[in-house]
Amino acid sequence: MDAVSDPTVETIELEITAALASLREAFLPRFRAAATAQALRDENAKILGKKGELTAILKLLGKAPPEGRKAIGEKVNALKQEVESGFESCLSNLRLREREAELSAPPFDLTLPARVPAQVGHKHPISIVREEVVAVFRQLGFAVFDGPEVEHEGNNFTALGFPPDHPATDMQDSFWTQSNHVLRTHTSNIQVRAMKSIAPPMAFIAPGTVYRRDDDATHSPMFHQIEAFLVDKDVTLAHLKGVLAEFAERLFGPGTPVRLRPSYFPFVEPGAEVDIGCVFCKQPNGTRAGCSLCKHTGFIEVLGCGMIHPVVFENCGIDPEVFSGFALGMGLERLAMLRYGVPNIKLMFDNDPRFLAQF
Ligand SMILES: [Zn+2]
Repeated sequence: MDAVSDPTVETIELEITAALASLREAFLPRFRAAATAQALRDENAKILGKKGELTAILKLLGKAPPEGRKAIGEKVNALKQEVESGFESCLSNLRLREREAELSAPPFDLTLPARVPAQVGHKHPISIVREEVVAVFRQLGFAVFDGPEVEHEGNNFTALGFPPDHPATDMQDSFWTQSNHVLRTHTSNIQVRAMKSIAPPMAFIAPGTVYRRDDDATHSPMFHQIEAFLVDKDVTLAHLKGVLAEFAERLFGPGTPVRLRPSYFPFVEPGAEVDIGCVFCKQPNGTRAGCSLCKHTGFIEVLGCGMIHPVVFENCGIDPEVFSGFALGMGLERLAMLRYGVPNIKLMFDNDPRFLAQF
C-alpha cells in the first residue's frame, strides 16, 4: 500500500495538529488588530465562516481513518471554542472603546438637518397665494379678521343689501343648513361682523372658505375668497384704486396695469370689476402681446370691488353721512391659477402629488 495516497492516522493527525497550532497562535493577534466591529466580524468569518480556515481543517478530518477522528475532532472543537470566546471578548472590548469615544466626543447637534432629505409635504398653491395676499395687505396696514363658515342669512345676505328674492338666496344656489343659516356664499359676512362690532376707522383683510351650489369645469362647490375692506371718513374711489394698484404691483410685479370696469354687486355703489395686465402674454418690455386667455385684450379679470353701499353701513349701525369705505373681494383659486398659469380649477382640488409638487 502506498503511504502517500493512503495517509495513516499519524500523518493526518500531524497535519491537523500543525494547522491548529498555527491558527491558535494567529487568531488572537488578528482579532486584536481589528479597528472596528465590522473588521472584527470579517476576520472571524475568515476563520469560522463556510470557507474559513478552521472549517478547512474540519474537512481534513474526513480524510482521517475512523479510529482517529474522535481525538482529532475534540482538538478542533476546543480551538473553535477558543476562537469563539476570543471573538466575543474582542467584540465587547471594541464596543466599549467605541462607546467611550462616542461619550468623549463633542455632543451630537440635534438641530442639524437630516442627511437624507425627508419626504415632507409643503404648502398648497392656494395657501401660498393666500399668504402672499395677506402679506401684501398687512404691509398696507390691513389686519386679518375672521368669521364663521356657517352664517346667519342676515349677515350673509340681508345686511349686505341682497333683496329677499335674489337668486343667491335660493335653495338651488346656496347650501342652507337650519333655522335661517347658510354655508357662507362669500367672505363678505366678515365685513358685516366687523362693522357691527367695531367702530370706524377700520381696515381688514378676511380670507376664508366659501360654498355655492356650483360644480363644473370652472366652478367648485367649495372655494376660497379673500376680501379687504376699509372704513374711515372721506374714503374715496381714489383710495380704492391706489390700494388696487399697490396690490397688483406687489403680487404680479412692478408696472402691472390695473383698470376698473363698472359692474353691479348688491353691497357696493359704485361697483367695478378689476382687470390687471395679462400675466400670460406679458412681454419682457412690459407690453402685452394678447393671447387666448385674455381674449387678445391684454387684460385679465382678477376681482370685484366698489364703495361700500350706504344701506350696508346703515344695516351695520354706521352712519353713511359720516363714514365711507371700499371693499374688494377675489377668488383665491383664480388668483393662484393666474399666478402659476394653471388652466383648470379642478387641479387645485384633485390633490394629485404630481401637480402639487410643482409649487
Ligand atoms: Zn394675454
